[in-house]
Amino acid sequence: MDRFPHVVILGGGFAGLSAARALRKAPVRITLLDRRNHHLFQPLLYQVATAALNPSEIAVPIRSILSRQQNTTTLMAEAIGVDPAAKTIQLADGECSYDYLVVATGATHSYFGHDEWAPYAAGLKTIEDALEIRRRVLSAFEAAERQSDPAQLRATLTFVVVGAGPTGVELAGALSEIGRLTVAKDFRSFDPRTLRVVLVEAADRVLPPYSPKLSASAKAQLEHLGVEVRVGAKVTRIDQTGVWLGEEHIDARTVLWAAGVAASPLGKALGVPTDRAGRVLVQPDLSVPGHPEIFVAGDLMAIATDGKPVPGVAPAAMQSGRHVARNVAALVAGAATRPFRYRDKGSLATIGRAKAVGAIAGLQLSGFFAWWVWWLVHIAYLIGFRNRLVVMIGWAWQYFAFSRGARLITGRAWEPGRPQDGPTK
Ligand SMILES: Cc1cc2nc3c(=O)[nH]c(=O)nc-3n(C[C@H](O)[C@H](O)[C@H](O)COP(=O)(O)OP(=O)(O)OC[C@H]3O[C@@H](n4cnc5c(N)ncnc54)[C@H](O)[C@@H]3O)c2cc1C
Repeated sequence: MDRFPHVVILGGGFAGLSAARALRKAPVRITLLDRRNHHLFQPLLYQVATAALNPSEIAVPIRSILSRQQNTTTLMAEAIGVDPAAKTIQLADGECSYDYLVVATGATHSYFGHDEWAPYAAGLKTIEDALEIRRRVLSAFEAAERQSDPAQLRATLTFVVVGAGPTGVELAGALSEIGRLTVAKDFRSFDPRTLRVVLVEAADRVLPPYSPKLSASAKAQLEHLGVEVRVGAKVTRIDQTGVWLGEEHIDARTVLWAAGVAASPLGKALGVPTDRAGRVLVQPDLSVPGHPEIFVAGDLMAIATDGKPVPGVAPAAMQSGRHVARNVAALVAGAATRPFRYRDKGSLATIGRAKAVGAIAGLQLSGFFAWWVWWLVHIAYLIGFRNRLVVMIGWAWQYFAFSRGARLITGRAWEPGRPQDGPTK
């Protein structure tokens, strides 16, 4: 085995894992490094944040996913730098050398240069983020039960979601359903159905990458759920009292952040050109300029195919991961690499119970049918038979019983402005 070239894959997300799996029969030694021990199915993270699913239903240990793949070793370690000239990776606690490198460390949210907003506007990228959002949302209802001042009660029951991309739309719809359906009968001193959910978007419509028709449908479905949709509204400040849109102040104790993208800092660490978000401007075969042995895949890459930028979504990450694996195998075999071409199979965004929009195979779907397709696709791609079964049963229960099974506040209740409640990362 030692005589085989060493392929190091940084990141066990959709891209890194797809690359590792696609190399399972190649004559290479693979080391997959991730700072977490689990692969996370991020598209369902908002369901953990809104108490519909438990973390273990959408996260699986990377080691167990790859346990039968004999040519692969999984290591839990944080990469902090890359030296392309020496072909080594600096880890937080050591070093690792490679013959071929696949960098797939993804991206996270950015506060557009306003990191001071982070403590008040929780973002969603990791399991910890989801549990933090769940803590804040459920704490707001608990605080409302003890609130006698009408203005304070209104602020306590006001939830602002910033960013109306798929995650913002999903969060806003789910928050509204929690108040109007899930906990509607659980409190005595206030009516949870009076909650106010405001979805704020700087662009002129929700779900900007979708067609104007689907954006309009998504807006109508959100409004049907009672969400207040504010498009063309730019956030200028966030603090413990709420959100400012220019001169207008929304008094809100819970603010969720679903906007902005910042690539993993490892992109810049490669010392090659990046775009404004820090994504690596890769060559057509997904290698980096000047280093044919280094490839970048997933959210960390910036590339256009067929004249369109490849979006930061799970199918693009999986396709690019498999593509870099094929190119690494080609180089090992002494063959030429091939350019990447993204095959857009469509997109779906769910809004709530039996509410969704989607564009698949040239068809524009909305409402119950789109929601049903969304449901099938997410179950199909979720890793692990047990998780698929548990999630299916959980969703069926939720649908018929209007319940959310994971309504636990772990740790202390959230109080905005309390000094020890710092940023979530
Ligand atoms: C809340 C949310 C909802 C989403 N919903 C959808 C959706 O509905 N549909 C869709 O198609 N896409 C969705 N996406 C986008 C999709 O999840 C991403 O496009 C996809 O995860 C990108 O895959 P990736 O492998 O590039 O990165 P990731 O999946 O982010 O994986 C990166 C991995 O690298 C590891 N890592 C990072 N830095 C280091 C380091 N320094 N050292 C070691 N390891 C490191 C991380 O721990 C992680 O495991 C969503 C994303 C989020 C955050």
